Amino acid sequence: MIGSDFYLDDPRPADGPPVIVGAGPAGIRAAQTLLAHGLRPVVIDEAPKAGGQIYRRQPDGFGRTPKDLYGFEAGRASDLHQTFDRLRPQLDYRPDTLVWNAQGHSLDLLHTAQRTADSLRWRDLIVATGATDRVLPVPGWTLPGVYTLGGAQVALKYQGCAIGDAVVFAGTGPLLYLVAYQYAKAGGRVLAVLDTAPAVQRYKAAPAMLAQPTVAAKGVYFLSWLMFHDVPVHHGVQLLRAEGADRVQAMVWKDAQGAEQRTNCSAIGLGYALRPETQLADLLGCEFAFAPLHRCYVPQIDADRRSSVPGVYLAGDGAGIMGADAAEISGELAALALLQDRGIKTDAARQAKLRQQLDKTQQFRQALEVAFPFPDDWAARAPDELVVCRCENITAGELRSTAASQPQGDINRIKALCRVGMGRCQGRMCGVAATEILADTLQVPVAQIGRIRGQAPIKPLPLDMTVVSADQEASHG
Ligand SMILES: Cc1cc2nc3c(=O)[nH]c(=O)nc-3n(C[C@H](O)[C@H](O)[C@H](O)COP(=O)(O)OP(=O)(O)OC[C@H]3O[C@@H](n4cnc5c(N)ncnc54)[C@H](O)[C@@H]3O)c2cc1C
Repeated sequence: MIGSDFYLDDPRPADGPPVIVGAGPAGIRAAQTLLAHGLRPVVIDEAPKAGGQIYRRQPDGFGRTPKDLYGFEAGRASDLHQTFDRLRPQLDYRPDTLVWNAQGHSLDLLHTAQRTADSLRWRDLIVATGATDRVLPVPGWTLPGVYTLGGAQVALKYQGCAIGDAVVFAGTGPLLYLVAYQYAKAGGRVLAVLDTAPAVQRYKAAPAMLAQPTVAAKGVYFLSWLMFHDVPVHHGVQLLRAEGADRVQAMVWKDAQGAEQRTNCSAIGLGYALRPETQLADLLGCEFAFAPLHRCYVPQIDADRRSSVPGVYLAGDGAGIMGADAAEISGELAALALLQDRGIKTDAARQAKLRQQLDKTQQFRQALEVAFPFPDDWAARAPDELVVCRCENITAGELRSTAASQPQGDINRIKALCRVGMGRCQGRMCGVAATEILADTLQVPVAQIGRIRGQAPIKPLPLDMTVVSADQEASHG
């Protein structure tokens, strides 16, 4: 096990406040639980305001109402924001702070506003870093005007602007319909929703979806709303390419009957659900295992969110995509486990109830996979000239030829040979697509390709940052 050897030279500090990375639903509920039991955690988030992705808050002076911003989730968003604002004076909250590395019991921090860097020792750590878009590119995806679905939503939610005046949303997953709805509702022109999942999948998933009838009903509402407002929704499509000269001008796709179609547009939002953001867990030495539900490697956790590394707990989407409600539950569970491990009395009945709630979400999550299946044929159809890794400009063809000389298929070896995932994003954006192409080329399961090992810096750093003295606060309490 990497973790145990890794920490031999770096024993856990004897004391200090717990540290939480991520102030989304998971991190906020974790902080609330720790405070309720008398601990004052350090809460770090690279965003300027707490809330995470789903409940992302606007910059000061922006006036969209919670109802406009969060729709059905307005109540939950306001509740979480108010909770955080109430707790904030009691927390050691550090916004605009990126954790870009983790070594032993120290986190390396970049304070983005001041461009200064320091480090923070931790004794126990809750990693609640959420998710990012799962990207499967199409030819032309590097044209200006092509965004990920999450990126398109961030533009609308955070900046109050659209990615274009005539937008196509394409890919699959619940976010596809939600973002299309949010755009159309905000007055944007949505030309089409192109879902690669066949319509029949929705019917197959329906009985299991009833595990969470309210969530399922919201999905039905978004779809019906779009259709009622004359937004064309096509199921079972194949996305062929984005076309344009200096920026995107059209999406070309095949309909379910196999006929080629062209939708002229000024922007495309593209996405295939989400992938967990696991790089910190990786740098911390957590053990990973392949999770078929998420079609990727995720850090191993027990039912209470303990990782394989003593003192490290994983909450929220970062250990597997389960959604915002589950993130809140898992944040509380992780905090309760931390308290228990510190010998602080917790409510066992509450823990049991939270575990049960998470199990229920897991069933619903499986139904979502049936309703919006990953397009298994994507890799086989990706043309050789498709740019997979945009940082290093590595194409599907280059990946295929490199794989041909590496039949054992480990992606880290292939990365070393052809530089896939070696650029600014460190594989966070291209890793999924590269893995799929390698698995398809070698005709092996995706699990056999492995995962790109996390490398610091996990996000780009400014060259002119100033390193200030190491922050020992958390280790001395
Ligand atoms: C772009 C995007 C949009 C989404 N929109 C929706 C939606 O509209 N509806 C919906 O139901 N679900 C949505 N989801 C999924 C939803 O965000 C999650 O299910 C839920 O927010 C998970 O909560 P969390 O606390 O685990 O993570 P998040 O809410 O993602 O919070 C994670 C926090 O960690 C911080 N963070 C991450 N890495 C670091 C680091 N290295 N250093 C410092 N801080 C860090 C981030 O800034 C963020 O605030 C979206 C996901 C994404 C990626």
